[in-house]
Formats: sequence, structure tokens, C-alpha cells
Amino acid sequence: MSLEKRLLKNKIMENIKNSGNPQTFTVPTEFNAALHAKCPKCRRGDIFANSMYGLKAQKMNVNCPHCDFKFEREPGYFYVSMFVSYAFNVAQMITIAVATYILTGNLENVWLYLVTIFIGVFLLAPFNYRYSRVVLLYWLSPGLHYDPEKSKDNPYKYSEG
Ligand SMILES: [Zn+2]
Repeated sequence: MSLEKRLLKNKIMENIKNSGNPQTFTVPTEFNAALHAKCPKCRRGDIFANSMYGLKAQKMNVNCPHCDFKFEREPGYFYVSMFVSYAFNVAQMITIAVATYILTGNLENVWLYLVTIFIGVFLLAPFNYRYSRVVLLYWLSPGLHYDPEKSKDNPYKYSEG
């Protein structure tokens, strides 16, 4: 074996060794994990398969790619997130209306408010879709908590089902 090949092999072996080391992964805080829409169980796997603002509609992973946690805990589980989304919408509409008033000082033109609210809600729809589900999983699901065992590099070894 040539020296070059041997060096390459050592490098590969080192990479494998490092990737198998649990210390290389730092567990994010609950807020950061939620912000990045990570699995609430392991805080490593992504809940969504694609980005929030892309050309394609957002797609949720069925199971966590890291720990295999099933996000839709029971059929229809995410219907509840509609209420969260509704609360987001109300808060955003009020914020947009207040901001419009502060910026324009206009109290005459109803259309101004309708149009800015409509545009705002339209632009925030992907955000609401994503974070209503994240909020449901992180803070409105009793019994669903972060599990350090699931965060390990080989969570299947420790998973009980
Ligand atoms: Zn997970």
C-alpha cells in the first residue's frame, strides 16, 4: 500500500471514529431545537423534509430521520395545530393592524388595513404551518419530552419501540 493510500485510509478511519462519538453532538436548548424544527424527542432529526420558504410545499417527515419517532402520534393529531395556527393568525393580524396605524397614521381607509393584513397573513402562512406543529409537539403534547437516550448516535440500540 502506498503512503498516500495509507494516509487516506487513516483519515477515513478517523472520520468514522469521530462520527461515532456521542460527544461530537451538542444537544441544542429546547428553544433552539424548536426554532430549527428538530424532533422533540432527540433534537437531532428534522421534522420537515424541506425548507420553510421554497418553491415546493412543506413536507413533514413521517418518522424522525434520527430516532424514528413518529411525529403524528395518532391519526388526526395535527388537527389540533389548526388552533395554534389560528392563535398565531389573530396575533399577527393585530400586530399588522397596529403597525400599519403607527406607520401611516391612517384611520380612514379600511382597504389599507385589509390589504396589509391579507399580504401579511399570506406571507406568514408557511411560518404558521411549520411553527403551529412545532409548538404542538414541543409544548402542547403531554408526555412528549426530550429523551437523551434518543439523542445518541445509534438511537435504535436504545429504543424500546
Ligand atoms: Zn428524533
